[in-house]
Amino acid sequence: MGWLVAPAGVAAGSEGVGRGGLWVRRRCRGSAPGPAPQTPAGGGVPGGGAGGAGGVACAAAGTESLVGVVTDTGPGVAIVGMLAAMPQPPSAASRDEPVIRERGDACPGALRLHAADDGFLARVRLPGGLLTVRQAEALALAADRFGDGHLELTSRGNVQLRGLADGCGAGLAELLDGAGLLPAPSHERVRNIVATPMSGLDGPDGPDGPRDPARPDALAWAMEFDRLLCASPWAAALSGRFLFAFDDGRGDVASLGPDVTVLGRPEGRALVRLGRAADAVELAGRDTPRAALSAARYFLDAVAAAGTQAWRVSELPAEHALETAEFVRRLGAAGIAATPAGAPRRPYAAPPRPGRSAGHDGRATLCVLPPLGRLGSAQWRVLVRVADEDGSGRLRVTPWRSVVLPSVGGNGAGRIEDAGLVLAPDSPWQSVTACTGRPGCAKSRADVRADARAVADLARGPLPVHWSGCERRCGHPRGTAWVDLVATGSGYRLAAPGRPVRDDVRPSELAAALADARTDPDVVKK
Ligand code: SF4
Repeated sequence: MGWLVAPAGVAAGSEGVGRGGLWVRRRCRGSAPGPAPQTPAGGGVPGGGAGGAGGVACAAAGTESLVGVVTDTGPGVAIVGMLAAMPQPPSAASRDEPVIRERGDACPGALRLHAADDGFLARVRLPGGLLTVRQAEALALAADRFGDGHLELTSRGNVQLRGLADGCGAGLAELLDGAGLLPAPSHERVRNIVATPMSGLDGPDGPDGPRDPARPDALAWAMEFDRLLCASPWAAALSGRFLFAFDDGRGDVASLGPDVTVLGRPEGRALVRLGRAADAVELAGRDTPRAALSAARYFLDAVAAAGTQAWRVSELPAEHALETAEFVRRLGAAGIAATPAGAPRRPYAAPPRPGRSAGHDGRATLCVLPPLGRLGSAQWRVLVRVADEDGSGRLRVTPWRSVVLPSVGGNGAGRIEDAGLVLAPDSPWQSVTACTGRPGCAKSRADVRADARAVADLARGPLPVHWSGCERRCGHPRGTAWVDLVATGSGYRLAAPGRPVRDDVRPSELAAALADARTDPDVVKK
């Protein structure tokens, strides 16, 4: 069994290179790949299994298919990534048919609450995932005063409150506004901005290896962009699903499928990529906030010209696809010098693992994982107090449903673990996610969180797993290979990259089946 050929520029069979990534080599087990699980967007598979976007079909039993690939190289270093990080189609647009919608974007926000089975739901956008301790305390207060006393972390680094009482909207808005969490009420649902959570924090012994002093401060870019976005009245027309990513160059949030990606480059430079375009533009890093805003304007102009209700760049019809040359022209008109960058290689970095690492200031950086991304307000307040009393006064909510606390001293880690939150890198909760399921969601066929808890310790493995109560797969992982479990009513449909789908795994078989799917002998964790 040999290693498959990686993209150009990387030696085939280069086993052992890369950090924090995942090689997957696979021998097909069936005569043909099973049907690919469908994402809400209708195309993806967990990690790009057979037939998925960017995927490589598994030809026949006994043959090998490539499920993980080397995606980028630097001087002497190859970074291992997965299919979702593979080069994407050349056009930023991927659909031939225009998207026609009969209703507007109903994405919930802090002011537009969603009626769920367990009460109303509010989603509070946190650009870059950043919170001050005062803002974090306000969220705990809101959860206790109006909701069910819990906070949920989302796959875009936001916070959700559930079980909210009918008629609480005005009180909730007042509380959030008082903490500075609603700087622009008209824009609150379009502040979908992720940024590299460890930007500026990786120390000499950090999980990402030696800190690269040339890496930019992605969070500073994100904050400046948020300010520009909120000051632009037209930007309120973006959908609540349009995503901006500010990546410091390592390739973590860039792999989340953003609509506008800013990727740091050495020597104060950066790339800006539109949707899934193969190419990008290069410009000065200091110009990236304005360039991202220009990209948003370009998208809205294209939506208007197309006469559709596209919410995302990938939904634009082909004849209205965003073009790099036109983007460069628009940037020039805005006084931003930019040049086409061809099809640059894109790095991939795994999400930060739970645990502690040495910050460059000599104090610890903690990455805290709440099981299934859900915390009680008392647990949340432990994080707030550690950040306040022993840390930097800041919290960073990550798109992987964890919280990074920079510059922590004292016994902060001990207090967090005593609260039942995870700091152990080998925790069974690592890479386990679930949608809301029952009883919060009427569509769910199971209490997926309870089912996930029941087998978590018995079904460990390097591949992430996502539990869903129905085929919508809310909050499923992006930018990585993953095992897909969807409730059927009597059990779960289980799909893993490159394997035949198991249509109805019974509860009594779940632990063993999931452990097997996550720990395929052909999966090698680097
Ligand atoms: S995946 Fe289905 S069951 Fe789960 S929260 Fe979404 S709609 Fe509800």
